[in-house]
Amino acid sequence: MSRHVLFLADAFSSNYLSKDKTPFLYDCIGKGVYTEKIIPGVGFCERSEIFTGISSTKSGYLTAIGFSPKKSPYRNMGMMLKVISFVDTIFSFLPIVRKVMRRILSYYIYRTEHPLNPYQIPFKLLKYFSLTEDYEDITKFNALGANSVFDEAVRNSKRIYHDSFTGLNKKNNGSDEDRLQMVLDESSGEYSLYLIYISTMDTIGHIYGPDSLETDEALAALDNTLMNFVDRFEKIHPDSTYIFLGDHGMVKVDNHIDINAIIKKMEYDLQLKLGLDYIYFLDSTMFRLWFFNDNVEVKIKSYLSDISELAEKGIFHNNELEFNLNKDTGDTIWYANSGVLINPDFFHLPNHVSLGMHGYLDCDKSGSYGMYIKFGNTVTLGTHKERHLHDIYHDILDAVS
Ligand SMILES: [Zn+2]
Repeated sequence: MSRHVLFLADAFSSNYLSKDKTPFLYDCIGKGVYTEKIIPGVGFCERSEIFTGISSTKSGYLTAIGFSPKKSPYRNMGMMLKVISFVDTIFSFLPIVRKVMRRILSYYIYRTEHPLNPYQIPFKLLKYFSLTEDYEDITKFNALGANSVFDEAVRNSKRIYHDSFTGLNKKNNGSDEDRLQMVLDESSGEYSLYLIYISTMDTIGHIYGPDSLETDEALAALDNTLMNFVDRFEKIHPDSTYIFLGDHGMVKVDNHIDINAIIKKMEYDLQLKLGLDYIYFLDSTMFRLWFFNDNVEVKIKSYLSDISELAEKGIFHNNELEFNLNKDTGDTIWYANSGVLINPDFFHLPNHVSLGMHGYLDCDKSGSYGMYIKFGNTVTLGTHKERHLHDIYHDILDAVS
């Protein structure tokens, strides 16, 4: 049987590929199909795009966490959250307490069926949110509400190995090396497709930025690791097909916005109560709001539209964007311009600063794009200037057809 291996290289930018830094991957270009630029979808739900072929703006899977009070794993934990929140407030001068509280919550919540890591989401807001594309195990039939690669595999009696993949609802499965080793250990199994999540470039890119020495070093190491893996896999299964996908790039952060400060002032000026009048969510690149009545909506929208910093550093959702928002995503969204970071956000501690980011509305800055190489002895040669991330679906579908 023919075997495909998909390396989902999170945040492997189109700018990273070069003869000097990534000699192995650079060489692979000449052995198959190469797409110079992968145009990412808006937001952070790359996996649903890849596995269903539907863009994020069409599917509604825009952000990893969405508004869904009925599905939130915290919906019945009011008392526990109140106690934790109380302890957190009293010991706010001791960061270790906050860390321990969140650790306890995280430990508890991962024992539930549809977990959501609490990250740095304010305790009183947790009950409104659940995961979106990762609410269900994406490998389950119809998990994403559309035909997926996993559904197709079931229909065609093909097996997909995915223990070496990723999901926000899954427990940590180790490092890139661990996941590659898992595939080698399972290589005798009758799998048509192996999914491997490669996290290195995302992790390093966020911390040090895309143009850093650390990123160059990580690239060289990853290139070498991949070469060794392919070498070993080929010895077991000659003439396999390998898909190396950078799902998006990494943009250098060159500006920040403290949305929290804006919100605090707004609540004071408009006499708003969080949780009674409205709620919000802070992604690294999006400020999302939900309004609990029309009057509040008008007041908040008008107030925020007068804030010059918001106008300078991003845009609010509007009719020109050619896609509609659903309630899960937000009643409205402010999108940061490429390179602007919402800091702090709900995923990082207040003193954390990322030097690289992705998930922007526009791909107008260098580094926004991902890349794609499909290589192997049986792959026909070809080059595309650019393709959308969701177009890769058809290539992956081939692996289970
Ligand atoms: Zn990332």
